[in-house]
Amino acid sequence: MGRPPLASGPHGPDALRPLLDTVLDALRTGTAARGGPLPAGGPGTVADRVARAAGEILPEHGDPDALHTLVTALAEGAADPAHPRCAAHLHGPPLAVATAADLAAGALNPSLDSWDQAPAATALEALVTRALARETGATDALVTTGGTESNQLAALLARERHGAGLRIVHGANAHHSVPRAAWLLGLPDPVTVPAPAGTLDPAALDEALTRIPGPHLVVATAGTTDAGAVDPLPEIAGRCTAHRARLHIDAAYGGGLLFSDRHRTKLAGLEAADTVALDLHKLGWQPIAAGLLTVKDTDDLTALHHHTDYLNADDDTDAGLPDLLGRSPRTSRRPDILKIAVTLRTLGRHGLGALVDRVCALAQDFAALVDAHPRFELHAPPTLSTVLFRPAHATDTAVAAVRRTLLTTGSAVLGRARADGRLWLKATLLNPHTEPADLAALLTLVEDPPEGHTPR
Ligand SMILES: *Cc1c(COP(=O)(O)O)cnc(C)c1O
Repeated sequence: MGRPPLASGPHGPDALRPLLDTVLDALRTGTAARGGPLPAGGPGTVADRVARAAGEILPEHGDPDALHTLVTALAEGAADPAHPRCAAHLHGPPLAVATAADLAAGALNPSLDSWDQAPAATALEALVTRALARETGATDALVTTGGTESNQLAALLARERHGAGLRIVHGANAHHSVPRAAWLLGLPDPVTVPAPAGTLDPAALDEALTRIPGPHLVVATAGTTDAGAVDPLPEIAGRCTAHRARLHIDAAYGGGLLFSDRHRTKLAGLEAADTVALDLHKLGWQPIAAGLLTVKDTDDLTALHHHTDYLNADDDTDAGLPDLLGRSPRTSRRPDILKIAVTLRTLGRHGLGALVDRVCALAQDFAALVDAHPRFELHAPPTLSTVLFRPAHATDTAVAAVRRTLLTTGSAVLGRARADGRLWLKATLLNPHTEPADLAALLTLVEDPPEGHTPR
């Protein structure tokens, strides 16, 4: 090989076109070879096949077929969120248009740590983050890698406002990244408030805020990862105001309801938050990563200001070059905003709202199927697009075994969640192309799983 071609520049598109054909062919071949929602055979079989395809990782001399070989292997061994029986996690199928936009991001490779690496991406990010912030009643928003980074940043901004004694107070239903943020930032151990019905109990929150000295950062959840439950946000906001506590709402999952006229009322109270986490790689159908942290008081962001001469010298900033370093704790940063902007504009509020409505309706359909089935038990009517269910009278061990059999036979990807002291199967429906007949087939598979071989 001579000098390998580059992705950008005048020859970039010509160099990319045949490679894209290769990629698309490999995606088709690998997906067909898999057949189902994930590869059959379990981790050992997949690892053996990947090792064979990968061959020598860093050979002395390159292999021009590596693109086709490795993309085929990855597609064949993928858990495909576009398959209707892949419904375990908040792991959604990205929209084709968003992935196409992300290709342009990869080709142009803007880096959002300084204007001179990303002039147009800087301007686009400023427009889109402010527009999305306004949707939550906030002023500005930072682009993050997802809910985990958003929750960490929310805790960091709160600590910088209120000091290192900041106490995070969160529901027992909060995402694991919330207590982890306290650990990461060296904050006092967080206080866990009971969430007896899967949502944070406002009376117990009030009691905790009264009993435990502040300053407090209350973290509420709009769309729990396990069950899609939404905390009583207006009541929580009221208690926060009464106790002068700061409020962060983790709407990593539920934030997408903002696009839906039918469902956005479930987010009433969101506008009371100081910060809100949104993940458009969940109910926004973006390829990972597409996180945002919206911020109500832009003074909070001064804590992130950071100076280094090569990226944001004062004289450059005075001369009008946007100062980006304070928009993230990261330095090099991908223009994740491009795919988001393209999606918002291509689908519009109605298009995105229709996708949200569709997956929420699928959850209602699936819950109705489960509820009507004598051999299954439904945990609760779904709030978002998650349904917890289990075979009636099964032990937790049997529930866990059914899930693993479905995984290792490559027939379905379901999640698991603990609720009310028992283990449940979890269907997280994020695929708007799933049909009610697919849901019926999924339930039949759970009822009568294919013969499993012993998972390794
Ligand atoms: C998914 C999720 C997160 C974590 O988001 P990542 O994008 O995986 O970092 C945080 N909170 C909630 C409620 C989530 O559902």
